[in-house]
Amino acid sequence: MSDTVTLTLHVPSLEELAEVLQKGLKNNFADVQVSVVDCPDLTQRPFTFPVKGICGKPRIADVGGVKNLVPVACIDKIYDVNTVAKEIDLPGAYMLGAGAVSFRTIGINAELIHSVKTETEGKPAVNGSYLARVKPSDGDYVLEKYSEKYSDCDFGLMSNLYASEGKPGKVVEVKANKRTGEDDFVGCMRKSLEQHYGDKTVGIGGTFVIKEGKAKLHVMPQDFPSCFESDEAVDRWLKFYEMRAPLICQSVFVSRDPGLDLRVEHTHCFSHHGDGGHYHDDTTPETVQYLGYFHPAEILFRIDRPKNSN
Ligand SMILES: [Zn+2]
Repeated sequence: MSDTVTLTLHVPSLEELAEVLQKGLKNNFADVQVSVVDCPDLTQRPFTFPVKGICGKPRIADVGGVKNLVPVACIDKIYDVNTVAKEIDLPGAYMLGAGAVSFRTIGINAELIHSVKTETEGKPAVNGSYLARVKPSDGDYVLEKYSEKYSDCDFGLMSNLYASEGKPGKVVEVKANKRTGEDDFVGCMRKSLEQHYGDKTVGIGGTFVIKEGKAKLHVMPQDFPSCFESDEAVDRWLKFYEMRAPLICQSVFVSRDPGLDLRVEHTHCFSHHGDGGHYHDDTTPETVQYLGYFHPAEILFRIDRPKNSN
């Protein structure tokens, strides 16, 4: 991973970030409350993470990219979360985020919902990730706990990861209920940052729960076509579903792409009732309730940017 590029991010204070998000979300939700709080214990339900918090040396890694999937899937693009942790100088980091599984491990394509405490000397990784796949028999989806079947920490094609020491600490708590605008929860927060910070790039990672309502999620099918002819062809290939709360969503977003071919937002969700996949938006604006915990990152690492990217 010798061609990793690092970018120093603009890091607003948590108080300022809370103010910017409060203002932005107000345009899109009826009831918004953003504040700075102590991170709740994320080892508890519904989160069940292998660490207590998302604080300490916060970093973002954007690994690979959609161009490893479109127009032709590069199934030999395989990465290891443990290696990424070392690459970003944070071995032992807790990583959350959104990506795709390794075709080599799973034998099929699927969504990966990252939640891994990476390995450190003498201590193996604790892999709390989930995968969501489409069942070819009936076209329905299934969510599986990664570690129940697989022992590695690999992923394929791409991932957007937020890394930290997994410590407790101060975070920004976001409560937003009843959607009144057109933007989804993450898109609205990202646009608020872009609007406020302009040329400065702010990167955020964290987790949120869709407590009430339903959401539109996609799951990638098990097999790739030989070639995607257009973005519309990708949309036709993806399987879209309406899934039920409570959904726990692992989210990474940056206010803008300063020319590194970044994916500016990526959120994957899991649940304790078999639902999971890639988040697009809620489908129940009247009743939806979001509760999230976020932290700004200090450095972004662009790892293995696809060669065919502009
Ligand atoms: Zn995704």
